[in-house]
Amino acid sequence: MYTINRESLVRTFVELAEIPSPSWREKSVMEYIIKRFSKLGAVCTRYKCGESHNLLIRFSGAEDRSTILLSGHMDTVIPCESVKAVVTSTRITSDGTSILGSDDKAAIAIFIEAFEFIRKNNIKHGPVEILLTCAEELGLKGIKGFDLSILKAKYGFVFDSSGRIGRIIVKAPFHSNMDITVKGRASHAGMAPEKGINAIRVLSEIIAALPSGRIDDESTINVGIISGGMATNIVPEFAECKLEVRSIDRRKMNAIEKQVRETAVRICRENRAKCRIERTLEYSGFSISPEEKISQLAADAMKRVKIRPEFVSMGGGSDTNIINSSRIRAVNLSCGMQKIHSTGEFIMINDLVKGTEFVLSLIETVK
Ligand SMILES: [Zn+2]
Repeated sequence: MYTINRESLVRTFVELAEIPSPSWREKSVMEYIIKRFSKLGAVCTRYKCGESHNLLIRFSGAEDRSTILLSGHMDTVIPCESVKAVVTSTRITSDGTSILGSDDKAAIAIFIEAFEFIRKNNIKHGPVEILLTCAEELGLKGIKGFDLSILKAKYGFVFDSSGRIGRIIVKAPFHSNMDITVKGRASHAGMAPEKGINAIRVLSEIIAALPSGRIDDESTINVGIISGGMATNIVPEFAECKLEVRSIDRRKMNAIEKQVRETAVRICRENRAKCRIERTLEYSGFSISPEEKISQLAADAMKRVKIRPEFVSMGGGSDTNIINSSRIRAVNLSCGMQKIHSTGEFIMINDLVKGTEFVLSLIETVK
């Protein structure tokens, strides 16, 4: 029901993709985005965050309608210094030497083209806030440095998931990191090994006693970094490992963390070693029922433009996790990007078109 201008959409996407924007260096792409949205009548405001800025774009609209939030991120992973987009009749790829950056410039291109369409066709809508973050790829640093309480929206639609248009991510895990440091006792390895307590040995015993990988359909654990020791002729005094725990269910995550702590303390005690455990919550998870209003808004807007909605759960975090810990209810949506974080990244042009139709449908129908 919307006739999208394919050429214009592809051009906007390619222009965005070819502006390098590694994390914290989003300035040039931000200037491009501000220029495009300002021409369409939006108010664009930058908010300082770390070495860069988050960008909030506001469109006014009918005051009797709810404000909606659209969101995505401006940074990409590397290599992205000289992206050369290759456009065929069906898809867009890089030239194979860099990523493409459809993660997450597909979302930005879709938002720009949706408002180009709205202006040309005089489509009525309510107020819209578009939040584009910096440094998402560095562990959601941009959104974590943004004051979400200044937003008016009740419902948020983040476009930062891979796969064909239609996927609605309603579940994503809580994620915590833990550091275990074991302190043994140093000694000469040849002359007095019995006076030493080998911290590497003790830490290995702890790791071997912990679960590894997938624990159940909602929870995972992974020891990702290990370090320790000075030389082969010294019984190592220190050893350290860093691990992560994820679960859709906060209680399950807490139980796994408790198991990690108890295992480390017990094994250290048995070996007369000491341990220090530090834990930080990376982000909270969310779990939204397909019956909730936000899910229905997304699904109904899709059906209106003949996209089949599919409710799915995701194993990773995104800005959606942080938005959901504010008073805004948000889902993550696929914007068509595929094989992301690799030089084989690509996007189907039809997905860019479908994504734009979906955003238009959303903006037009949310009351
Ligand atoms: Zn992304």
